[in-house]
Amino acid sequence: MLETSTLPIPSSLVSDSQFQSTESLDTFCPKDFLALGSQASSITATGANLFKTSQENFVNWRWQMRTQVADAKQAALTTELIASETQGFRELQDVFHAGVTPYYMSLMREHRPNDPCPIRLQGLPRTEELADRFGVPDPLLEKEHSPVKEVVHVYPDRVAFCVAQLCPVYCRYCYRKRRDEEVGLHFNRSIIDRGIDYISKNSAIRDVLITGGDPFIASDVALDNLISRIRAIPHVEIIRIGTRTPVTLPYRVTTELARILAKYHPIYVNTHFNCVEEITPESSLAIANLVNHGIPVGNQSVLLKGVNDTYEKMEALLKGLLKIRVRPYYLFHPHNVAGTEHLRPSLDIGIKIMKKLRGNITGFAIPSYIIDTPSGKVPIAHNHVLGVDGQDLILEDVRGEIWREKGVVF
Ligand code: SF4
Repeated sequence: MLETSTLPIPSSLVSDSQFQSTESLDTFCPKDFLALGSQASSITATGANLFKTSQENFVNWRWQMRTQVADAKQAALTTELIASETQGFRELQDVFHAGVTPYYMSLMREHRPNDPCPIRLQGLPRTEELADRFGVPDPLLEKEHSPVKEVVHVYPDRVAFCVAQLCPVYCRYCYRKRRDEEVGLHFNRSIIDRGIDYISKNSAIRDVLITGGDPFIASDVALDNLISRIRAIPHVEIIRIGTRTPVTLPYRVTTELARILAKYHPIYVNTHFNCVEEITPESSLAIANLVNHGIPVGNQSVLLKGVNDTYEKMEALLKGLLKIRVRPYYLFHPHNVAGTEHLRPSLDIGIKIMKKLRGNITGFAIPSYIIDTPSGKVPIAHNHVLGVDGQDLILEDVRGEIWREKGVVF
């Protein structure tokens, strides 16, 4: 596998020079994000100081990608590493490389043994990743479900089209870690051509999820081109995009990008906040840019030990999402992906959290709790049905009391 510094970032996708003629200055230095830096306590201001750069650089998504923190020496310049993180950078570089945007690094706080920082847990490698009894490289057997390279076809009417390989942050629990084994997947022309051809020839496909990696790590031009080709396929009704950039690189979600996406409605974005600490003025602005262009934004979280595995943490996340107009969609129990056992909580923790949410928080703030299997998603829930008595159903209500619903069983 590759170290981040050797990952092939195609210059045509992320370099500044190509786009100076085709993208506005706002794409490099979006004024709305730059304005947030006028608050001295903002992540934009404190992050630029931490990385000893200008705020103009800090809000430039290409600068963020070029300045990804990929080794212990770089990370130690902005945060005090603990031993397992320092060693983790070294010992995991050939297993799953590290890479964290300066923005996401700026969200980290110091390590506290009894109260770990959820941002560090997600972004920094740790030696615990080397001890995993059950993890496998491809828990969803996606390779077996790919009729052509990088198109995952599990359900008859929809596909995941994995066009991207690069990410702003390489999340330590990612279930597609295996993708960095192979060089050159990112917006690869022949993979895109083959995928478009496959989707065009399968008229049952009405829903295309563009994913990766992170598909927003591409130029506006490349994204416009890709989405226009998918939208031109007559039987494709909806296009969805899975991206973590609002969380890990919000400066990428400019009004210009949102304007391009909005040309192809109906288009949906699913993002991936895992904890309330990720909800900042910067990430909120990224979401606002999408929603203000009529793009519905949903959220998929992963239940992670130390990150969101208590009722209080989950409630704060879900309430925070509604405030920035993001609809919670899925809460995934973590996949059994290699190197993540230290982050996987027991299933009963998820069930207890879900049970308590019902009745205590707005109904549409409650995501579906899911175990993802190679043949599809399986919802997991506390069983409120206690039994049947004649034509009556015996239920446990949300307060834990018994309720008899009369005459509903025939
Ligand atoms: S952003 Fe998504 S694809 Fe990229 S490492 Fe994180 S979880 Fe994996």
